[in-house]
Amino acid sequence: MLTALFGGTFDPIHYGHLRPALALAKELGLTKINLLPNRIPPHKPQPEANTEQRLAMLQLAIADYSLFSVDTRELEPKLINQPSFTIDTLKSWRQQNGTQQSLAFIMGQDSLLSLPTWKEWQKLLDYCHLLICKRPGYAKTPCDSKLQQWINQHLTQDSQTLHQCPNGYIYFANTPLEAISATEIRQNINNQQSCEKLLSPKVWQYIHENRLYNAKKC
Ligand code: ATP
Repeated sequence: MLTALFGGTFDPIHYGHLRPALALAKELGLTKINLLPNRIPPHKPQPEANTEQRLAMLQLAIADYSLFSVDTRELEPKLINQPSFTIDTLKSWRQQNGTQQSLAFIMGQDSLLSLPTWKEWQKLLDYCHLLICKRPGYAKTPCDSKLQQWINQHLTQDSQTLHQCPNGYIYFANTPLEAISATEIRQNINNQQSCEKLLSPKVWQYIHENRLYNAKKC
């Protein structure tokens, strides 16, 4: 069985997360995707919603899908002041589950392009495969030649390889293009614009009830 982790800030979770993940599951025959909310994203501004609120929105968004569950290992109290480095999370997952099980980490094309800024990025494949979802506005080919070389060395388009090998491959998925970002959603809400079509109705209701992302808090 190929286990998949889908890391993110999810501030808030939106259809740009859910739709590509659902399509990816179909494409690769994944039966479980574990959403992995970070506490302190190392590479971007700190979340506006607090950890409990982001977690609550995740739970609401996935309530109707048996495919998804939430892995809270990056939210553990002992990690309260530490940036959530993916490599450390993968090591912790391997300590818990051993080295033989196939593990994949899902990310969008934007995250792939930013990989050279990640801690020990070239070691990520020692612990998992990377599954890359398309994202509009981000080039398929990296400018960074070291990254491109690394991708070329580890590329596969064979789903069986991902299921059979525990780690070590990069797969570009044929997922739908969803022009949605959490930044745009937060900005729209702050500007009193509707985002109903960009996220699940339950999450939209939660944002309203808790007056999230609204600088005026009106
Ligand atoms: P922000 O706008 O706050 O930077 P975001 O919308 O990019 O947030 P994150 O929670 O940071 O959302 O993203 C988590 C993961 O989901 C990342 O790997 C990111 O590339 C991927 N992702 C987010 N939105 C999309 C999208 N529209 N299409 C494909 N992948 C996406």
